[in-house]
Amino acid sequence: MNKSIDRFMVQEGLHLLMADIPTEVEPFYKSKNDYEKNLNDLTEEMSNLQELLYAHNRYALLLIFQAMDAAGKDGAIRHVMSGINPQGCQVYSFKQPSAEELDHDFLWRTTCRLPERGRIGIFNRSYYEEVLVVRVHPEILDNQNLPEELLDRKGIWENRYRSIRDFEDHMVRNGTRIVKFYLHISKDEQRKRFLARIDNPEKHWKFSSSDVKERNHWDDYMRAYQECLQATATAAAPWYIIPADDKKNARLIISHIVISVLKSLKMQYPSSGDVRRADLDTIRKMLD
Ligand code: ATP
Ligand code: MG
Repeated sequence: MNKSIDRFMVQEGLHLLMADIPTEVEPFYKSKNDYEKNLNDLTEEMSNLQELLYAHNRYALLLIFQAMDAAGKDGAIRHVMSGINPQGCQVYSFKQPSAEELDHDFLWRTTCRLPERGRIGIFNRSYYEEVLVVRVHPEILDNQNLPEELLDRKGIWENRYRSIRDFEDHMVRNGTRIVKFYLHISKDEQRKRFLARIDNPEKHWKFSSSDVKERNHWDDYMRAYQECLQATATAAAPWYIIPADDKKNARLIISHIVISVLKSLKMQYPSSGDVRRADLDTIRKMLD
């Protein structure tokens, strides 16, 4: 089993062909029990690293999740973050923008939700929707209140990629690490998951007829993802393409990546100086 996670990272400047990228790889686990044990171990490690991130209080970590419907974003977020102290973690789900949000530039609403130092922020969808769903349905631009001369339908995507790259570079230069996950499922796996949702009354709420409408634009979405990932994969803010036909495997891979990013940060627990140590000694004596 090849446990390397680097192979899932999109290399900056390299040509991407989404159709050639597998939606399934050899699993990182041997059985359901083995999966649960692995996930527990990884959760514990992540929890320790999160505590260090919080105590060190210099870096923030932003995890961005993008995917087609039913790819397992919600489940991955829930499982990966289980066991993490909720005080150090914020999750935001971005839906269609409100009227207030549309009165600002396209990075405004997500900027307000960025994690503070010491925290992990999770974006369930993000500003990337602006070059994905909006690219597949460019008529959405008509509601974005942009000045006419800036609505150049050809140049707008390149400009948005540039804005995103510049914004992410800026964040990284100021201490926020950014990791982006695209959960990659096959069209057939999506069909099976939609059917399972229809067949199970407890999952009906998860299914909307608009999901099927978007499925009809599958190839356009794949092209939009391909171009977007290629244009915005940078060494500073990498994209990972997670094979997601197997939900359990996807969750393990994501956990491994988050842990390796946290480990790469130069963090330590704040050390106590002489004065503080003397203070603590005095308090200890009083308590004794
Ligand atoms: P789930 O279906 O699992 O609850 P979801 O993320 O699919 O989660 P929905 O309420 O079904 O949530 O869909 C949100 C919709 O909002 C998606 O279709 C997404 O493409 C759309 N959306 C998000 N951001 C934007 C944006 N900036 N512009 C236009 N549409 C957007
Ligand atoms: Mg949905």
